[in-house]
Amino acid sequence: MHCGGGAYICGEETALIESLEGKRGNPRIKPPFPAVKGVWDCPTVVNNVETIAAVVPIIEMTGDEYAKIGVGKSTGTKLISASGHINKPGVYEIELGITVEDFIYSDEYCGGISNGKSLKAVVAGGSSVPILPANLILKTAAGEPRLMTYESLADGGFVTGTMLGSGGFIVMDEDTSVVKNLYTFTRFYHHESCGQCSPCREGTGWMEKILHKILDGHGEMKDIDLLWDIQSKIEGKTICPLGEAAAWPVAAAIRHFRSEFEDYVRNHGAKDVKHYYRLHNLEIS
Ligand code: SF4
Repeated sequence: MHCGGGAYICGEETALIESLEGKRGNPRIKPPFPAVKGVWDCPTVVNNVETIAAVVPIIEMTGDEYAKIGVGKSTGTKLISASGHINKPGVYEIELGITVEDFIYSDEYCGGISNGKSLKAVVAGGSSVPILPANLILKTAAGEPRLMTYESLADGGFVTGTMLGSGGFIVMDEDTSVVKNLYTFTRFYHHESCGQCSPCREGTGWMEKILHKILDGHGEMKDIDLLWDIQSKIEGKTICPLGEAAAWPVAAAIRHFRSEFEDYVRNHGAKDVKHYYRLHNLEIS
């Protein structure tokens, strides 16, 4: 058993292998893939704990029976870590295929939005996946109920859909500022960038600075387009997916909540931003 130092990037398998070898957790360029050349150049299979935990019920139930749980290609169960403005935050093991609406509002899971407020948006699969407004997380663009499956959440691509991702399900109520939330995500990815590739190393920092400028009351309308331009120059141009993880939330927030960014620019930012970050023990860089 080896304990990591807590770096987000070590969730990327080759960075994990580098750190296991005692080096800085920098992702490797692939190929060669770890199954061919992994820890100390030996073939290595990297799985997460959730995958390994699923082996027991698959063996006990037989694969055919286990595969009957779920819908379509999304078979079996999935751990969903539900947080945000809900009555019952926690980690839930769900059978894939329940509706998003059931997951948010039923007493078995999240128990509805806290303080009787209404739903504004959801980040369905961890901070890197596209945020969706309430209407698109509850129903697809075609009006079908959105299901907690890989396929249903991805329905509509990144224009009207999102991803199940890691199952980090963040619920936001009507009072949530998408711009402030995005700033928190962007600061995180800037901090976690390993710095190997310029688009990620520089781009995450630029996005953080521009968002801070907007929140601090000095934003200009052209900053919103600049943010869009920077995120588009990170996606697909980096060694590992942390680049995309940093870019996708920015793109989705602007795609679905552009008017909120414009309001911040028009109204000279959130005057309470310093107070907000002091209150939450965060640093403004
Ligand atoms: S994308 Fe970011 S985290 Fe990944 S290798 Fe490049 S600089 Fe490092």
